Amino acid sequence: MSVTVDLSSKTALVMGVANARSLGWAIAEQLLAAGCRVGFSYQGERLKPELEKLTAGRDGTWIQQADATSEDDLTALFARVRDEFGHLDYLVHSIGFAPRTAMEGRFLDTTPDDWNTALNVSAYTLVSAARHAEPLLREGGSIVSLTYHASQQVVPKYNVMGVAKAALEAATRYLASELGAAGVRVNTISAGPMRTIAARSIPGFGTMYEKAAQSAPLGRNATPEEVGGLALFLLSDLGSGVTGQTVYVDAGASIMSMKVE
Ligand code: NAD
Repeated sequence: MSVTVDLSSKTALVMGVANARSLGWAIAEQLLAAGCRVGFSYQGERLKPELEKLTAGRDGTWIQQADATSEDDLTALFARVRDEFGHLDYLVHSIGFAPRTAMEGRFLDTTPDDWNTALNVSAYTLVSAARHAEPLLREGGSIVSLTYHASQQVVPKYNVMGVAKAALEAATRYLASELGAAGVRVNTISAGPMRTIAARSIPGFGTMYEKAAQSAPLGRNATPEEVGGLALFLLSDLGSGVTGQTVYVDAGASIMSMKVE
């Protein structure tokens, strides 16, 4: 299915692309196809060659290293946005991380350090990125992040990441409430399981992936392209009446409590 959206006068920053499987890249592809100019931030110089490869030959793109937990990196990143674009229409936060130790054992045993890291990287960075973006965002601006249903129901081993995603969803509502007066919307996309680098670090992800597909009303998992399509809707004026929401793209898996054959 293709929907024609013209974003040729728009600009976007996508934070959190590691490779072609990243959900951030699936979103960027839709923005680029609609003519949007897109800047990318990536964490650590080891990801630079991959980003250079992905963006090669794509008009209107640029890349910059930024650890989202570093105020200095964020200051430099948004200065670059101002220099390249002058303003910002869309901000995509596609960042999540929890130390593996926090996802292997019991939730009860979560250490303060692992808690702080998971919530800082996976939830607080949405707040800090939005604050840096605020002076550059215009009426009609839109912010989107990525969450997961383990915020609402227990998913074994997801542990502190479930808490971090609950914080991200709550932060989305608070940000939407404060930025609404400027005509800026903030939403988060709750994606079903997708095979990405971040997913590989979740113990038992393969089983979770199969089970989600079996229980979903559509009998399959949603795809990264479908995440990109929802992001395009929420970022562009197609979603102009939607803000503060957690919107699911999971082939319906989250509505099921159990499937009786
Ligand atoms: P990914 O590994 O491709 O992307 C995660 C990105 O986060 C990477 O680019 C990584 O470099 C970046 N990152 C981590 N710490 C960072 C930091 N301190 N500063 C800057 N960047 C940092 O995996 P993905 O699955 O595309 O993840 C993107 C988002 O989607 C995450 O928020 C993830 O929780 C969410 N999500 C993923 C799934 C799934 O099944 N893959 C499902 C629902 C939600």
